[in-house]
Formats: sequence, C-alpha cells, structure tokens
Amino acid sequence: MAFLKKHIPALAVALIVAALLFAARAMTQFDILLFDRFLPGLGFVQVAGAAALGFWLTGKFLDPVTAPKWRRRTWLWISAAFFGQLLLGLTVSPVFLMTGGLHFPVPMVIEGGVVYRGGLSFMPILFLSTILLSGPAWCSQLCYMGGCDLYRSRAGKNSKAFSMPVKGRWYFRIGSVVLVAFVALLLRFLGAPGWLAVTLVALWGVAGWLIVAFVSPRRRQMIHCNLFCPMGAIVSLLKWVNPVRLRFNQNHCTRCMRCVRVCPYAAITASDLDKGRPALNCTMCGDCHSACSHGAVEYRFLGLGPSKARTAYVVVVLALYVTFLMLARI
Ligand code: SF4
Ligand code: SF4
Ligand code: SF4
Repeated sequence: MAFLKKHIPALAVALIVAALLFAARAMTQFDILLFDRFLPGLGFVQVAGAAALGFWLTGKFLDPVTAPKWRRRTWLWISAAFFGQLLLGLTVSPVFLMTGGLHFPVPMVIEGGVVYRGGLSFMPILFLSTILLSGPAWCSQLCYMGGCDLYRSRAGKNSKAFSMPVKGRWYFRIGSVVLVAFVALLLRFLGAPGWLAVTLVALWGVAGWLIVAFVSPRRRQMIHCNLFCPMGAIVSLLKWVNPVRLRFNQNHCTRCMRCVRVCPYAAITASDLDKGRPALNCTMCGDCHSACSHGAVEYRFLGLGPSKARTAYVVVVLALYVTFLMLARI
C-alpha cells in the first residue's frame, strides 16, 4: 500500500500511456506499433515497455535536481526516433514509416498546411489537442525538432548561461507566422503546382536546420524555436487554453537571477520577476524551477498547492511524451 501511495504519479503515467497506446492500436487499420509489425500480435509487449519507461521517467522528472538533464536527454530521444525511423524507412524498409505517405518533417507545415488546404488534418488536430492537454509542452518536450535546438543552444562558448532576449523578438515571431500564412494563401489562390510548395517548404526546412546548427550555439539561445519557427509563436498564443501556470512567488524570490541564466527561451528578465510571471514565450519547461533554490518558482493549477500542481503537470506531459515516443513516425 505504501509503495502504491508513493508511486501514484508514476503509476498514473504508466496507466495513461498504456491506455493511449492500446486505444491507438485498436483504432488504426494498420499496425501502428513497431512490435506488431516485426512480431505480429506482440504489440502489447511494446505497450508494457512504454508503460514501464513512463513509470521510471516520472521519478527522474519529479526530482528537480535530475529533471533538466532528463528533459534534455529524452527530448533528443524523440528527434532520434523520428528522424532515425524516417531514414530507415527511406533507405532500408517502409516498415519503419507510419503509413508510407510522406510529408515534410518541418514543424511550420502544421500552420502552412492548414492555410494551404483550407482545413484541419491529423497533425493540426494532434497539435491543438496537445496544447489543450499540456499547454506549451509541445515546445519543451514533444516536438521532434526543438530538442535539437536546445542541444545546439548549449553547445556554444560559455554554455553555462543562456543569453538575454533578442531585441524585438516578437517582430520575428509574428513575422514568421504571417509570412507562412501569406505564402500558403498565395499558393492556394494562384493554384500553384505542388512542386513549388514542396520546394518552398524544403528551403524553409534547410534554413531552419542551418539556424539550429550555427546560430543557436553562437547566440546561446534556442534561436530557431524562439524567433524562426512560427509554431513557437502559435504555441505561445494558444497555450492559455490549458489552465496550468508558472509564477514567481514574490515572497520567496531573492532576485538571485539563477533562473534567468538557465532559461533557454530567454523568457525571464528582471521585469518579469517583478511582475511575478515569465514572458509569453515560456514553454513551462521547468528548468527555472530546478534552478531556484528558494522555492520561488511555482506551478499553479486549479486550487492545488505548487508541488501537487507541478506533479499533475509532469504526469500529463510525460504520459504524452512516452506515447509520442512510441508513435513518432511519418
Ligand atoms: S518552436 Fe517549432 S521547432 Fe521549436 S519546439 Fe516548437 S514547434 Fe518545434
Ligand atoms: S532563481 Fe528563484 S530566487 Fe532567484 S531570481 Fe529566480 S525565482 Fe527569484
Ligand atoms: S521561464 Fe522557466 S519554465 Fe519558462 S521557459 Fe524559461 S526556464 Fe522554462
């Protein structure tokens, strides 16, 4: 009984992961799990492994000391699973692809595709559902590209501290959303050929990877996610549909500025600390919570205390993360 009580969050993650994966398995016409493809009928073994992984990771994420390291590490796993299977699917066997129907692995296609097609498809619906359930966690744990930007942003000189906000960053962020929408609309109304849309998306993707590779380490910040990718701005604007919030408790904050230095999104300045909340582009990654030794960074969710609110948020994000990890394929 004591074991169960102590591990309620981890058990919750494991059960949610198992339920989501069994549901996905039952609802799809094809084998959505890799185990079912290679070892027909044994998909339940993968579900059990995923649930165990979720159980184990919960401890790592709930401990503020280990949370930032495991968040960075596990976020890269999503990129490795996604791009690794894409590569294997294209070079070794289509069994590594989700359906065999390729689309471009560039996050902005979620926005561009909606405008270009004039309707929602599976990816935008998944994206919006994720925001509803986990707020901005798409941009701190779930997207296949953000983990690489975080990794590169820590690769530059003096990587111990991230840099301060880039001046006028919202011009870049909103400009990117408007540009993608405008070009997609133009292509749609001009009836442009498919190859032109594909070429533009490919160019955008290449530009994005160049920023990840060279600009983020130089600027010591997630420049791709913070300034270039339109989905980052869209997440920042839509995340409020989720009720979880992050606040700086003025009674505990000593203005030591440690949280400022560990924020990869430059979402904390002295003025944000005065206001008691991070900037709009905060992705609730929780790194500032781990860095604050004064207990001033608090999660707020309904009437729960800060610790329980954080636990509830971690459970939801981790359950989604492990499910995504199992299904991260094109
Ligand atoms: S900003 Fe774009 S690339 Fe970065 S994590 Fe969000 S969706 Fe992914
Ligand atoms: S680390 Fe904590 S105490 Fe220091 S400035 Fe940030 S919120 Fe305040
Ligand atoms: S303010 Fe804190 S939770 Fe928000 S992005 Fe920065 S480090 Fe992460």
